[in-house]
Amino acid sequence: MKKRVIILGSTGSIGQSCLDVIRRNKKRFEVVGITAHSNLASFQRQIDEFKPRIASISNGASYLRMKKNVSGKTRILAGEESLIEMVESLDVDVVVSGIVGSAGLMPTLAAIRKGVRVALANKEPMVMAGKIMTNAAKESGAAIIPVDSEHSAIWQCLNGEPRERIKKVILTASGGPFLKRPTSELGKVTLKEALKHPKWKMGSKITVDSSTLMNKGLEVIEAKWLFNLPTEKIDVMIHPQSIVHSMVEFDDTSVIAQMGMPDMRVPIAYALSYPDRWPATLRGLDLVKEGKLEFFKPDAGKFPCLGLAYAALKKGGTSSATLNAANEAAVELFLGGKIRYIDIPRLLKKVLGKTAPKQDDNLSAVLEAGDAARELLLSYV
Ligand code: NAD
Ligand code: MG
Repeated sequence: MKKRVIILGSTGSIGQSCLDVIRRNKKRFEVVGITAHSNLASFQRQIDEFKPRIASISNGASYLRMKKNVSGKTRILAGEESLIEMVESLDVDVVVSGIVGSAGLMPTLAAIRKGVRVALANKEPMVMAGKIMTNAAKESGAAIIPVDSEHSAIWQCLNGEPRERIKKVILTASGGPFLKRPTSELGKVTLKEALKHPKWKMGSKITVDSSTLMNKGLEVIEAKWLFNLPTEKIDVMIHPQSIVHSMVEFDDTSVIAQMGMPDMRVPIAYALSYPDRWPATLRGLDLVKEGKLEFFKPDAGKFPCLGLAYAALKKGGTSSATLNAANEAAVELFLGGKIRYIDIPRLLKKVLGKTAPKQDDNLSAVLEAGDAARELLLSYV
């Protein structure tokens, strides 16, 4: 029987890669639902090709433009709430969570509460509300399978291994476009430069996050929740080739690493096929051709965002939600040309330093912490 799939954020980089995996495995899947915020031309093409039962547009104005063109059997829903309605109402086996930022929290949580498999790319909800999401999964029995390449790697390294023998997990980071740039020159960084990732082609928010290493910071927090690890057991290493996607060191000193070409279709397919591995016709890894693999310690002074993520974990409670929301706001301002690149860590540090954490076991506290962080950050600009 075909697996029924919903893709939250189908027009994004993850969404499109996911649809490509499905296109290559047509006999295994049926796309029953897709969602988008904008980019309607691409959404329309996806509707025509995959003929989902429901297509939801979170942005009301986009919906009005879209409605005129829709034909066929797909039901078009509109508004933020419609994403949750879609997840709750459709019979589905897997929900791919590929929206960017905190906007993905409620539909992803709805999928977790439904008890279905969630292939999780959208890391921000886990950063904001890791405790709530993991508790909800325990209650419903939902399996949250990581799509983020580092977490997919760790997941694979831990297959069948005794969890209590983990010495540490090591998340690898490409280092982004400014790895070799002197700290003194970061003040001159332009948006165009920040959007040029050396290894991965991704949406603009995560690309900026990768350049500041905030993406790695968010991934440290994501790893804590996904693998139920204490912060001291999560390390980061710069690995510019992005071939080793992450590793786990065990108490017996053995290190297991997962490798492959940097192509998100691989971890997406794995999150769908797990525990199986489906054959793929993608470019494989040739280590001889790669030649050398390098590993460095991250430069904490040059990239303060990574340290801020550890600081948020140390403060605990809603601090991660505060940091995540402040970062979303700062990146939005940077993308809009309103602040400089080096203002991002400066503003985040200020917001985190000024905010006292609250308990993070209820949704309203987490959402309030996010709203307050955004407001505080904007007051500094
Ligand atoms: P993207 O910007 O390319 O796509 C985002 C998707 O979310 C689009 O479909 C967009 O329409 C939708 N969206 C945007 N704002 C929305 C809103 N307010 N409400 C509802 N939907 C909205 O982003 P991406 O690069 O695909 O990243 C998606 C998520 O996956 C992020 O959380 C990112 O950190 C994570 N991730 C991405 C990659 C990658 O290779 N792109 C790798 C690892 C993790
Ligand atoms: Mg990643």
